[in-house]
Amino acid sequence: MKRIAIIGGGIAGLSAAWALEKARRAGQDVEYALFEAGSRLGGVIGSEVVDGCVIEGGPDSFLTEKPAAAQLCRELGIGDQLLPSNDAARKTYIVVRNRLIPLPDGLMFMIPTKLAPTAFTRLFSLGTKLRMAREYLFPPAPATQDESVAAMTLRHFGQETVDRLVSPLLSGVYGGDATQLSVRAVLPRMVQMEERHRSLTRAMLAARKKAPNAARPAGPRPSMFTTLRGGMSQMVDAVSVQLVPGSVRLDAPVHGLGRNDARAEQSRAWTVESTYGREQFDAVILALPAWASADLLRLIDHPLAEALGGVPYSSSITVTMGYERAELAQLPPGFGFLVPVIEKRRMLACTFVHAKFAGRVPEGKGLLRCFLGGAGNDALLDEEDGRITRILLQELDEILHLKALPNFVRIHRSRRGMAQYGVGHLERIQLVRDRVAGLPGLALAGNAYEGIGVPDCIRTGQGAAESALRAVEAETTATPAPTAH
Ligand SMILES: Cc1cc2nc3c(=O)[nH]c(=O)nc-3n(C[C@H](O)[C@H](O)[C@H](O)COP(=O)(O)OP(=O)(O)OC[C@H]3O[C@@H](n4cnc5c(N)ncnc54)[C@H](O)[C@@H]3O)c2cc1C
Repeated sequence: MKRIAIIGGGIAGLSAAWALEKARRAGQDVEYALFEAGSRLGGVIGSEVVDGCVIEGGPDSFLTEKPAAAQLCRELGIGDQLLPSNDAARKTYIVVRNRLIPLPDGLMFMIPTKLAPTAFTRLFSLGTKLRMAREYLFPPAPATQDESVAAMTLRHFGQETVDRLVSPLLSGVYGGDATQLSVRAVLPRMVQMEERHRSLTRAMLAARKKAPNAARPAGPRPSMFTTLRGGMSQMVDAVSVQLVPGSVRLDAPVHGLGRNDARAEQSRAWTVESTYGREQFDAVILALPAWASADLLRLIDHPLAEALGGVPYSSSITVTMGYERAELAQLPPGFGFLVPVIEKRRMLACTFVHAKFAGRVPEGKGLLRCFLGGAGNDALLDEEDGRITRILLQELDEILHLKALPNFVRIHRSRRGMAQYGVGHLERIQLVRDRVAGLPGLALAGNAYEGIGVPDCIRTGQGAAESALRAVEAETTATPAPTAH
């Protein structure tokens, strides 16, 4: 029997466990143990119901166009719980000097593609609009190496587009800093478009022209986001009930990892040290933030640990506030707003949850979810709850003229939970892959590598499980059969 350890019980580790469980059911001679430092599974995913409202401490949904999450839910028998976002009401605003200005219609990869909405939007000055027109005719030369998303946007469209569009979108979605995030890692399509067309506007218009001919299944256009009716934790619960009883170890932080001497007879390749003691495994999946994997690998492969430890992470806070719906009458229609850094506020984004998803907030109630923190704002996490609430209520009053006090407030802190793909990220990850290839039986999963979204983490978990299974299989075939004398 081959033994595989999974370290980390977030969605990446759980996806790996489910993939191993399927292999076991299919007859593979394998068992697994999942070690989770905390007292519950799910990692940054955590949902609860307060006053009849579904509240998300971490992710509230996933991008529909990335299929791994919905596929996993269907496989686990909770496909009927998938809930599309209410895209008929999808409108997002940007705060400009305390006023909400709608994002122009027709944005693709953060680039405006529709002439009229871009020409008439109050988001950009005349100077920026003329600059966009000029970019069509006289695009800048393509970059020869990786650069930040802000640097690329600046070359094409100028500073105002960075400040009022790209920076708020990236901080509201990734908790990230546009001046640090790698365009090649975060927006590879933009790089390809620049290489092909030089002008991003020209590239977007060409893509839009092609779109109607592209093969798309008949029926309504899929929603942009998908969630689960009872909260994202449904996915976590649905995996955990499928796992072999006893295979999940909670309150079990792994504090030591070792590689065993391959020459020793009967020895398995890896040793895992946790509150459960020292155990031997044939393969190990590290489904952890990169900094946590770096800590465990430092004595095994120093360059690998250095590369992993160099992936920056940002911290964030979500604050969810419940109101009577009538108290939110002044809210404009839409999903919420983003706050540019240049507005010098603590809030990065606010979602009108009752408008984004139908049926997660009872009739007559309203729910606002505010996002704070992000790159370079870790100190905010140490503020006490009362102060964070006071800051937010003041900012909501100044932006929305909202004076009503919420019926309840829920605050969730995520320390170093969101990986930031800085300039040079792709080279860093290639180095990580090369080093891991030299450590048979080791696989990595999580949000540090190929995307930070829930579907990306699921994919890396499944991929890590496949790689661990291949490694133990290779070991089985390489072990000479005992000979009778
Ligand atoms: C506030 C917030 C909002 C987000 N919103 C969205 C969204 O709307 N849509 C979307 O697609 N994505 C979103 N994301 C991103 C996405 O949720 C995460 O990238 C993803 O859930 C990470 O999953 P993971 O399993 O890789 O890591 P984690 O969830 O961080 O899990 C890692 C686990 O490892 C455990 N661990 C750490 N060290 C050890 C150790 N030594 N031994 C044992 N266990 C250990 C931790 O306790 C944790 O449970 C959001 C992230 C955050 C923080």
